[in-house]
Amino acid sequence: MTNMQHYWPLVLEHLKTRISTSTFQAWFSRVKFINVINQGRKIVLGVPSNFNKHYIEGKFQKELREAINKYYPKVIHTEIKIIELPKSQQKPIQDSLNLKKNEEKTSSSLDKPEDIKHISSYLPRRNLNNLNPKYTFDNFVVTRSNEFITNVAQGVIEELGTLYNPLFIHSPVGLGKTHLLQAMGHKVLEKDPSLNIKYLPSETFFNQFYLALKKKEMEEFRQYYRDVDLLLIDDIQFITGKDAFQTVFFHVFNELHQMNKQIIITSDKPAKELIGVEERLVSRFEWGMVADMPKPDKEDRLTILKDKVERMKLILTNQQIDLIAAKVDTNIREMEGVLNMIKARVRLNPGHDFTDKQLITILKPYQNKNEFNTNRKAKTPDSIMDTICHLFSLKKTDLLGSGRQKNLSLARQLTFWFYKNELDLSYPSIGKMIGGRDHTTVMHGSKKIDKLIKDEDERVLEKIKLTREILQEN
Ligand code: ADP
Ligand code: MG
Repeated sequence: MTNMQHYWPLVLEHLKTRISTSTFQAWFSRVKFINVINQGRKIVLGVPSNFNKHYIEGKFQKELREAINKYYPKVIHTEIKIIELPKSQQKPIQDSLNLKKNEEKTSSSLDKPEDIKHISSYLPRRNLNNLNPKYTFDNFVVTRSNEFITNVAQGVIEELGTLYNPLFIHSPVGLGKTHLLQAMGHKVLEKDPSLNIKYLPSETFFNQFYLALKKKEMEEFRQYYRDVDLLLIDDIQFITGKDAFQTVFFHVFNELHQMNKQIIITSDKPAKELIGVEERLVSRFEWGMVADMPKPDKEDRLTILKDKVERMKLILTNQQIDLIAAKVDTNIREMEGVLNMIKARVRLNPGHDFTDKQLITILKPYQNKNEFNTNRKAKTPDSIMDTICHLFSLKKTDLLGSGRQKNLSLARQLTFWFYKNELDLSYPSIGKMIGGRDHTTVMHGSKKIDKLIKDEDERVLEKIKLTREILQEN
């Protein structure tokens, strides 16, 4: 067990690179490693409350499993137990769950209907802007690659609402969109503290809308946003498919825009690629300025790393910093993840230099990154279906067809399960892909596999393991 425990902090660090800081704080900061059992196939974790357990299982199963498998590759089943924490550690959880500024506030309210009492319970007071003090211009490193977008951002702040409205910033994750967005909010507030600024991830915006709808307070909701001077919407991609919300957002957008109130939006893809977002919204997103947050090249990564190493007071050699910049070429969040791991290691060994050998161990996941990436790409609906057919000696047409033999049903349910859990596809779309089945059939099938995994059904565990292994070999 002791050996196994060593990897747990790395799992947490990896998770931090996958989910937002506030989400991590609220849900994962109190997760305790308990044990790895069943020849490495099952990991047992502890959390302080049932609520915490259900939240993680309901919302972050995929992220957690991915992070666990990175360091415990044999684990198939994760068990989360409720454990009592020492008194001294209990309060912060309450605090982080109740944080008004926290983006989870709204989602946790959704789970606890008794919280829905008054409009102010889901719409923060005027002076609460939700900005994270961590993200300012002061610690935003300007490099050659992000110079353009930084200049645009400065211009927008100078001539709020009139220069480029909206400003639409897009890029893949971890490249600094949220940081820049919030830095802009802080700067505007600094210049004029009387302004009404609201930062919110689009999911929070949607959750508020949903509560307003439920309470029949749509007019109040619109009035509330009509009053905003600077609206910062992060990760707009999550509004896809939420049609009623898109209609209301469209009106809010128009009202603000007409009054020359500034709107800034970030997205993980260009507006045109936002499938499931109404055309009229997409075209509005492109009305002002569209700019991407480019990926830093090696030299820029070095500049950013040096700044962060200094701020974190880490003592590293130039070669070590150079090696990190060379290996971690995915995004800035991952570079920060590596620095955090280094910091954790240094804390474990106070008074000792951080060695090259330790660095190489930490950078191991990045050594084979290319290989790893191609593996990940190889995990497609087709490759999963092929693999399962191969393992069960079935033809694809059987799997897609309507036969109900036990073997065939199991193979089909496993396919549902993989599509849901490893590809994150929705039940209806899985149903469409596998012989035009109803989404409830898919859901029941996939849940059945969950149950078999819980019951440690040898056959199912074996098939999952083999499927994963085969897909890794591609
Ligand atoms: P995104 O929103 O694009 O996914 P984030 O804004 O969350 O990315 O950035 C990921 C991490 O990298 C954050 O911790 C952020 O502070 C840091 N970061 C990104 N760009 C920069 C930069 N130019 N200078 C300093 N830190 C940065
Ligand atoms: Mg972001």
